[in-house]
Amino acid sequence: MNVRYIRWAILGIIVVASLILNYLHITLGNVFPSVHAICPLGGLENLQVWMSGHANLQKLFSGTMTLLFLSLGFTIIFGRAICGNICPFGAIFEFIGKIYPKHFSVSEKYDLLLRVLKYIILVIVIAMAWITASIWISPYDPYVAYAHIWSGAEILNENGIGLFILVVVLLVSLVNTRFFCKYLCPAGAMFGIFSLISPTKVTRIDCMECGKCAKSCPMGIDPGRKTVKNTTECVGCTTCVEVCPSKTPVISMTFAGKKVQSLLFVVGTVCIFLGAIALLNTVGLMQVTVPSLESVQQGGNYLNLIDLKGSMTIEEGATYVGMSLEDFYTMMDIPVTVPGSIKLNEIKNYVPDYDFHAMKAK
Ligand code: SF4
Ligand code: SF4
Repeated sequence: MNVRYIRWAILGIIVVASLILNYLHITLGNVFPSVHAICPLGGLENLQVWMSGHANLQKLFSGTMTLLFLSLGFTIIFGRAICGNICPFGAIFEFIGKIYPKHFSVSEKYDLLLRVLKYIILVIVIAMAWITASIWISPYDPYVAYAHIWSGAEILNENGIGLFILVVVLLVSLVNTRFFCKYLCPAGAMFGIFSLISPTKVTRIDCMECGKCAKSCPMGIDPGRKTVKNTTECVGCTTCVEVCPSKTPVISMTFAGKKVQSLLFVVGTVCIFLGAIALLNTVGLMQVTVPSLESVQQGGNYLNLIDLKGSMTIEEGATYVGMSLEDFYTMMDIPVTVPGSIKLNEIKNYVPDYDFHAMKAK
């Protein structure tokens, strides 16, 4: 079977799985991870606060850091294969690009300038996250908007701008495949930087220069050319290898100079990445949701105050940190008139200047 179809089938399954996971998170709450907790970029936004005391930003968990380190290590070995073969958002843009037959490409000069944009966005996202100690980009992030499409009209309040950007990049992707990945995605920029030292490359030797590989590349690059752009932009999708009409093999995926079959590369990278996540989850290093109250009580593994989430009620918060309700009210400076069934991030509805996140940090 054609490797391209197998890859599209894998990406299709990942997109459907991401939609189901997002739906479960929206409808059933924190039992299922939020998109923030399972995005490697979230780990980078969290890095500064995590390093300063092993705390985590709101909506992020220790498992988000594990995911960051796993993703970066994986990228150092396999290049941007996460973008090409695993990321559901990138897959959606690639699928959308197949709907409309006519595509436009940006001229070489503007293409290079636009590609720099995502690195600038990466710097802004990280700087603002570290300065504000929050996931600052969230309201403007089209990936967050995509993950909240099940929220109905509520999405307009929380992610209205992100939704607008999402619609725009989806429409542009109709005529310019993976426009978002090429020019705007800060996670892609992060992976691009780390892929510079990866031994995984597309290698092309003297060929008839028919140009089919470059035309088919969803990232709009000319595969096999030794340029920084080609190194940082290749997402390891193997499309260029598969479309080459040459009878003798002139283009291939290579790892440390050794040829790797396209099918092995695509299936292998997906299995290794998802297998590593499953393994880390089994040994308890991939915690991306709030543990259940029962498991906290039974195991006595109480949370630190800093790890409390705004979606917990006051009563749950006290139980999660192993305090009496009375002590918790005192510690968190919550007036006793606020009922214990109120969520921590809704205390401000009773006490206007109450800031739960500032209080727990204090
Ligand atoms: S560039 Fe961003 S959206 Fe595109 S595949 Fe990579 S991580 Fe996903
Ligand atoms: S160069 Fe080849 S493997 Fe890399 S992104 Fe383009 S088509 Fe995919």
